[in-house]
Amino acid sequence: MQNTLDTLPVAVIGAGPIGLSAAVHLRNCGYRPILFEAGAQAAANLARWGHVRMFSPWSYNLDPAATALLRQQGWREPAADAFPTGRELLQHYLLPLAAHPEIAPHLHLETNVRSVSRLHHDVLRTPGRDDAPFVLRVADPDGERDVIAQAVIDASGTYQTPNWLGAHGLPALGECAAADAIAYGVPDILGSARAHYAGKSVLVVGAGHSAYNALQDLAALAGEAHGTNVLWGVRCTALSRIVRSPANDALQERRRLEERIQELLALEQVQTFTGLEIEAIERQDDKLIVRGSAGQLLPVDRIIAATGFRPDLSLLAELRLSLDPTTQSPTRLAPLIDPNLHSCGSVPEHGITELSHPERGVYTLGIKSYGRAPTFLLRTGYQQVRSVVGALGTAAATAPPCSAPVSACQG
Ligand SMILES: Cc1cc2nc3c(=O)[nH]c(=O)nc-3n(C[C@H](O)[C@H](O)[C@H](O)COP(=O)(O)OP(=O)(O)OC[C@H]3O[C@@H](n4cnc5c(N)ncnc54)[C@H](O)[C@@H]3O)c2cc1C
Repeated sequence: MQNTLDTLPVAVIGAGPIGLSAAVHLRNCGYRPILFEAGAQAAANLARWGHVRMFSPWSYNLDPAATALLRQQGWREPAADAFPTGRELLQHYLLPLAAHPEIAPHLHLETNVRSVSRLHHDVLRTPGRDDAPFVLRVADPDGERDVIAQAVIDASGTYQTPNWLGAHGLPALGECAAADAIAYGVPDILGSARAHYAGKSVLVVGAGHSAYNALQDLAALAGEAHGTNVLWGVRCTALSRIVRSPANDALQERRRLEERIQELLALEQVQTFTGLEIEAIERQDDKLIVRGSAGQLLPVDRIIAATGFRPDLSLLAELRLSLDPTTQSPTRLAPLIDPNLHSCGSVPEHGITELSHPERGVYTLGIKSYGRAPTFLLRTGYQQVRSVVGALGTAAATAPPCSAPVSACQG
């Protein structure tokens, strides 16, 4: 079985920045990657927030192993200290990488991985488990099929599974029925989604940088489109606890965004509601009424739920994972990314040790590895990939030794 396993590809779920990076490192280390992407193009999640300016500069957002490959094709590195939008990252880096002749043949677009298991082994069955290859049930426009792999890297992100508005972690009562008036994530308020927000009362819910981006764009829209009202609801009882002193933030573009929010608050361009624990959302005529434990808010036309994201762990349900019950990240990673102790930028470098599960040969990487913790940075994800792929041969005890020089494997 061992020899057969060695000849199998390593499956990568998701062709976002981290999945593409994994494909590059796998290729550099002599593995055969097979990369599945649910979207019609690579990095489909990132394309949905392409209008957002990133708070990390180009130098943080590129994987050196990938740029080395791209440079062979005449690709030119952007200014290291400039801050790209998501769209710029997509067009200048991720799409060229996906189209690279060393990556493109391994990439299957419009291919959704529905579930992963081990051949002839459900989660309960132990004998021979470590020697059994993985089975991925995938669906593409031609239908369903099973793909066999020696190891699995799940880099499928979290953007497709946002958190609910409801205070209990469940949908607020009526939230699903009001879905047509709720946007999850960061809608393109000044671009393609403008008509939904111009001249409307809009409630932004959430206390992170996605909320700040939405508030910033809505305030700009209010200056152009008469009748646009911006409301902001947070769970916290004091805004001073979430809009931090800009001096504390090492990432310059994030600091600029925080300063802008403080300015909007000082100018009273945003009406704030603290201590908001949403219990129900009701429709009254063509308005939404948001009810919380402390009463109801003013009627609004639309809601933007910038309440974060959660991993979809259902596709790995037949595998033996060890997950922290709070963050839903690999157990050993959890203390390193705890949002009570860390923000993006202060999470220490980590790798195969923290990312391993009892099930050998399966790894969740990228933002999905952080579970519900919002502290992920691409730069850390590229370090994860380098460590996991570099150690795959030894960790999975099935793969061939790295056939590329060590320096190439380490990007
Ligand atoms: C608005 C916003 C701004 C951000 N700004 C920054 C920043 O400035 N700096 C920074 O470092 N990080 C930033 N992040 C965080 C993080 O770097 C990004 O979310 C990044 O896209 C994560 O990369 P990923 O490859 O882990 O996941 P994703 O980019 O989400 O990629 C996952 C891919 O998997 C695909 N997929 C999902 N499910 C399946 C399936 N079942 N089968 C096949 N394919 C599937 C998706 O279509 C997607 O293409 C930001 C995030 C958001 C949302």
